[in-house]
Amino acid sequence: MKKLAVALTLALCVLVAVLVGRTWSLAGSTTLPAAAVKIDLDASTLAYRLAKALRIQTIAHVPPEPNELVPFQALHELMRSLFPRAFSALKTEVIAGGSLLMTWQGSDPSLAPILLLSHQDVVPVSPGTEGDWLHPAFSGVIDQGFIWGRGTLDDKSGVFGLLEAVEHLLLKEVTPRRSVILAFGHNEEVGGSGAKAMATLLTDRGIRAEYILDEGGMVSEGVISGIGQPAALVGVTEKGYLSIELTVQSPGGHSSMPSRDTNIGRLSRAITRLEANQEPLRIGTTLAESLQALAPAMGFGRRLAVANLWLFSPVITKLLAAADSTRAGMHTTLAPTIFHAGIKDNVLPGTATAVINLRLIPGDSIADAMRRVEMVIGDPEVKIRPLGHNREPAPESDPKSGSFAALANTIKQVFPDAIVAPYSTVGATDAAHYTAMSPNIYRFLPVRWGVDDQKRFHGTNERISVEGYADAVRFYIQLISNTAG
Ligand SMILES: [Zn+2]
Repeated sequence: MKKLAVALTLALCVLVAVLVGRTWSLAGSTTLPAAAVKIDLDASTLAYRLAKALRIQTIAHVPPEPNELVPFQALHELMRSLFPRAFSALKTEVIAGGSLLMTWQGSDPSLAPILLLSHQDVVPVSPGTEGDWLHPAFSGVIDQGFIWGRGTLDDKSGVFGLLEAVEHLLLKEVTPRRSVILAFGHNEEVGGSGAKAMATLLTDRGIRAEYILDEGGMVSEGVISGIGQPAALVGVTEKGYLSIELTVQSPGGHSSMPSRDTNIGRLSRAITRLEANQEPLRIGTTLAESLQALAPAMGFGRRLAVANLWLFSPVITKLLAAADSTRAGMHTTLAPTIFHAGIKDNVLPGTATAVINLRLIPGDSIADAMRRVEMVIGDPEVKIRPLGHNREPAPESDPKSGSFAALANTIKQVFPDAIVAPYSTVGATDAAHYTAMSPNIYRFLPVRWGVDDQKRFHGTNERISVEGYADAVRFYIQLISNTAG
């Protein structure tokens, strides 16, 4: 009995030592902090130029509407007039009608180019919300230290920020050693066929990129619970996208003599089953890496749990499941987004249709998801078919690569108070079209944002602070200097 007690005590001591030891190993960042760099820029001039771009309503549709490209041509004209050096030094090609591919030739052709992406198109304003904007969505007003308008965060700040950076470097008579390619898609919000065409063209030319940077994570302030300091989240993968249409058809009829099974009832049951049988939550590779990178900014308790996921992953899973945004990172989500049936209160509709939008976690696949949906519904009367522009989850880029380190270093130079962490972006980006061009694909928009900004994406009162936009330009200047030489 005594021997058993001693053995148990010993085992407990070893366990505590292991837990604490692993926690200590995550206490400090392993990378040396970069020295902060503050490039001198005139923030109000930058803001004034971005505001001009916001006034052009570059909205894409599928299929394209007549004259849809006209605003994009106006945007190109504006760019040419504001960034004369960039447009004379870089080779510019218009692809697929509205996308812009700009190549800044490096002096050393043996080096692989870097590829910097952003998109010119914006989402429309949701009908009925126009009046909720403090300043009209396409007025490009600068007020209270902010630039207001659709596209300030998503993603004209990226397009103009990159052009400002190139223009600034050209003014300083910089020639990069490594080529810098800018690719500005014109229909990211509706599937990104422009980006796809540019990716195909570059691949056909045999170009491989050292790394690719697109929009994605940002410098989050107070967004992640338990993390006291700003967190610069760099997307190393993104979820896949799949929309499925469900249809139930049977003769309709008079609502005074309904059959036992109505189309609306049957379709509703299918959706109820799907919602009740969600994919189990799990902590995948990227999420584990993300938690470990953020651990130094956590309190001891959370750090202990993150350092010992082998023991505490159920606790962490439960913690992350509390918020919709973090729960979405732990499984393939499923959301009914469209439901159509019926035209009159006393007529049984002959058809009921619904659309389910799924976002596939890395490791999942469209084929597997389709099979699961079919199995869960388990009703041959519910016809299931995938809708257009679906994509598989993106491959996971290595957060330990040299390119990631250079990116993290640049982030620390411009945002010295931030902790850098890889993560999986929940939304879709144009970067997904470029997966064949580089194993190092990162998604990061160098802008600070807080809880209050979350609803501004694709929402009302989208804005960026004048100083925040200047920091974005500083980041791009620094990144090109650091990684293209
Ligand atoms: Zn975007």
